[in-house]
Amino acid sequence: MPSRQGDTRKERQVLQARQRAAEKADKLIRDGKDENALKYLLLTKRAERAVDPLQKKLADNKALCEDNPGPYIDYAEGQEPSADEAYRLCRGCPVLLECARFAIAYAPPVGVWGGEVYIDGKTQDK
Ligand code: SF4
Repeated sequence: MPSRQGDTRKERQVLQARQRAAEKADKLIRDGKDENALKYLLLTKRAERAVDPLQKKLADNKALCEDNPGPYIDYAEGQEPSADEAYRLCRGCPVLLECARFAIAYAPPVGVWGGEVYIDGKTQDK
């Protein structure tokens, strides 16, 4: 049985890898290279598990934000929408649940995902 100390070290390594992947993915998304960004998102197990249902759902459904660079809504730094605006933007999106689940797994550094505003991987309080 692994020790608690070993578990904690492993958790820290996973978090660091996830953070590095998120930073790389964010830069690639900002550069308009979403396909490459996806490779980095897949570096994390949680994101890997969550991206599959999102991709499958996107194959059959049109996201409300389809004209954005990816299945999320970007905004200029410091100009994030309010929580209510984010909710309204995504309300009725057929992939909302999958998008929200993916965002929880990926902890995106920026953007509106699944009706929530994310800044530095955290949702903003309503
Ligand atoms: S839930 Fe919102 S951010 Fe996600 S795909 Fe739909 S419209 Fe885009």
